[in-house]
Amino acid sequence: MTIKQTEVTVGEIIQGYINNEELGVRGYSGKLDIRPPYQREFIYNETEQQAVITTVLRGYPLNVMYWVRRSDDAECPYEVMDGQQRTLSLCEYVAGKFAYDYKNFFNQPADIQQRILNYPLTIYVCEGEPSEKLEWFKTINIAGKPLNEQEINNAVYAGPFVTDAKRHFSKSNCGAYRLGKDLVNGTPIRQDFLKKALEWIAEHETREGKRQTVVGYMAQHQHEPNANNLWSYFQNVLNWAITNFDMKKFKKIMKGLDWALFYDQYHTHTLDTVALGQQISALMRDSEIQRPAGIIPYVLTGDEHYLDLRTFPEDIKLAVWEQQKHICPICHKEFDYEFMEGDHITPWREGGRTVIENCQMLCKECNRRKGSK
Ligand SMILES: [Zn+2]
Repeated sequence: MTIKQTEVTVGEIIQGYINNEELGVRGYSGKLDIRPPYQREFIYNETEQQAVITTVLRGYPLNVMYWVRRSDDAECPYEVMDGQQRTLSLCEYVAGKFAYDYKNFFNQPADIQQRILNYPLTIYVCEGEPSEKLEWFKTINIAGKPLNEQEINNAVYAGPFVTDAKRHFSKSNCGAYRLGKDLVNGTPIRQDFLKKALEWIAEHETREGKRQTVVGYMAQHQHEPNANNLWSYFQNVLNWAITNFDMKKFKKIMKGLDWALFYDQYHTHTLDTVALGQQISALMRDSEIQRPAGIIPYVLTGDEHYLDLRTFPEDIKLAVWEQQKHICPICHKEFDYEFMEGDHITPWREGGRTVIENCQMLCKECNRRKGSK
């Protein structure tokens, strides 16, 4: 991998500057992709924009920026990797989109205009294999508003697959968001939806015996013309969730679940959704359940661990231990308090509650044996 240092003036960057929905943001006579379409939207606030202009006008240095050299056949050879917000602030100012010191760029005296246009930006241009870039970006990704892991992956595996994936997953009101805003955590522009979709499909392939990872999946599909497979898997998963569980009733326990896991395991079954719905409603009223988000996983799998059921508090356990005269009712041996555990005489699934009348203190050994029955 090579990293070349170069200097480019603001005036050169602003050549051929365009900023629109369709084409994204380009500059440097069309050779620089400042923000590819459907990527994170402009997030500098006014104070930060002004600070960039102040820095340039006073001739202070701006931090180094990083560009990626794309493959030779790329229609736009460079992409801004780090420095997007600073580059955008400068371009937008020169393009007359905001005022500094109450003046638009066009109303500044000629010498001030020249000072901005001649200001040199220090750029490191990086070219190499995806794996090398990945390591390097992780190291340099330090200043300002850092890129997150998925944003780095998008840059490293840039290509038609990622471009198309961003169209579905990364715009504020994209299809993935409209479909999944109540089912998936995070926001599209920080790449949370794309990250989740990639994790899901990688785990799906792993379950099918392929041992896949997010980065592995991106590398494998990097040069494919679109992300249709990813997008349709994501839609299948969420549509399955929406079809089988009533969003109106259960919305607050449906967000952030591992829907792909459940889809993979159950989508070929026909679920009795009416019975499941009744079961879920009843469980939502059950105060023994400390983790409501575990209710749907529980009704699907029957695994009580999802529910984080209540356990006996210290005061009840101590009182029962005294009542039992420190004797374990199963093996009839005597134990110190710390070697005993609170057990529900009638278990939760048979209606037992976490109340003193339903508590017995068992020695650890007997409790383990009872639990494994
Ligand atoms: Zn015992």
